Amino acid sequence: MEKYRVRFAPSPTGELHVGNARTALFNWMFARHHGGSFILRIEDTDESRSDLSYQISLFNDLNWLGLDWDEGPQKKGSYGPYKQSERLEIYKNHLQKLIDANLVYPCYCTEEELEEERQALILGKRMPRYMGKCRNLTADERKKCEEEGRKPSFRFKVHPQTIEFEDLIRGEMKFEGESIGDFIIVRSNGMPAYNFAVVIDDHLMGITHVIRGEDHLSNTALQMMLYRAFGFAPPTFAHHCLILGKDRAKLSKRHGSVSAGEFRKQGILPEALINYLGLLGSSFTDGREVLSRDEMITGFALERASKSGAIFDEEKLHWLNAIYIRNCKTEDLVERLKPFLEQAGYIIDNIDAKWLSEVIELVKTELTSLAEIGSHIDIFFDDKYEITAEAKQILEKENAAQVVKAFSEYLKTAAGNPQEIYLAAIKYTKEKAGTKGKELFMPIRAAITGKVHGPELDKVFAVLGKDVALRRLKPFIS
Ligand code: GLU
Repeated sequence: MEKYRVRFAPSPTGELHVGNARTALFNWMFARHHGGSFILRIEDTDESRSDLSYQISLFNDLNWLGLDWDEGPQKKGSYGPYKQSERLEIYKNHLQKLIDANLVYPCYCTEEELEEERQALILGKRMPRYMGKCRNLTADERKKCEEEGRKPSFRFKVHPQTIEFEDLIRGEMKFEGESIGDFIIVRSNGMPAYNFAVVIDDHLMGITHVIRGEDHLSNTALQMMLYRAFGFAPPTFAHHCLILGKDRAKLSKRHGSVSAGEFRKQGILPEALINYLGLLGSSFTDGREVLSRDEMITGFALERASKSGAIFDEEKLHWLNAIYIRNCKTEDLVERLKPFLEQAGYIIDNIDAKWLSEVIELVKTELTSLAEIGSHIDIFFDDKYEITAEAKQILEKENAAQVVKAFSEYLKTAAGNPQEIYLAAIKYTKEKAGTKGKELFMPIRAAITGKVHGPELDKVFAVLGKDVALRRLKPFIS
């Protein structure tokens, strides 16, 4: 048996949350670091909440992030099926084993009865848990319940005991069985409960390390009981901290974007998101923040993962994204930008490819996300060119008209290399209008680009050409 087999086991009940993406990433890095296997298992036994569309978007998101799985749906593997809804027979057989060993019992309590019990316990200031009403029903009592048409769930008998395990991130963990009520392992609709299915699958799939969020710690206590009941050796556990919002509450929609898909739509590059999530709540060797996939794999160590929650900082993600965009080869970047350009109303087929590359090369240092492209590239398109209020203000200032006039004057007769023309025109304007610094450059920028910020003006000028510049300067000459 392989020494390192880990899994990512999402329930397809929603879009891939960055918290889950990070869990997938930790498992993936662990597998790649140790040369082990990364398995994808779909936990879709909650029929009312699972949806095929979520499964499809999950595959898309994992593919987009480059978290390739070695076994799982769409892949071969000797431990399938890898979808829980296709493993029902296996769970049934395992339930029978526990029934035969007298470790479980049918429970006929209805939802309403259970809720009543819960409320009564809360009122009495006691820990809400199942008090074992159906644990010792006689055969007759069971028969009666069946005759009433009640469908049983199956509960695991919890005995007073201490559950201990060593967590790779959190160290020694201890739970008292006394506070845990008999828990459901198979629901009344015949579907396995999470804790039951997960133990069987992790065991049968030869999972050696279970790496997941700390919100599963209390589940692990229950799962340990099931490992013991089946006589299975438990895997090694590692529960990483969760991602929190700035208010230290679990990161949720009210904090803003939370799914991988949302970040993709915003134009975050997958390599930036991977870098960000990989370092979030875990420190790497030399404090570096920009790490390639390979560097992250080499430096990955669960032991370095933090125990306290990791605060999600969207600004930092954009900062990293800007670095990845800047470092992206322009020809690749053009390809990646195409859908965003289309979305912003640019018709790619109508744009000269070489010219587009030049423009992207110019603006790429200004982007913190791909989706921003439309509002940076507009200065190069006559039909998108617009004077912003700030630019207008600049152009209404004293001297502005003079600057624009002198600059235009020089351009009219100039010929040759655009960058040289630009420099000479600036020199001319400086003398003619008697201005320098901002007063000199800002009116020219404002008129030529319609904006007060943007790429280096000489380069913008070179791309636009003299004629376009002259046309844009004209209305501001009084
Ligand atoms: N399906 C569970 C979830 O999405 C898996 C938890 C686990 O990794 O065991 O939370």
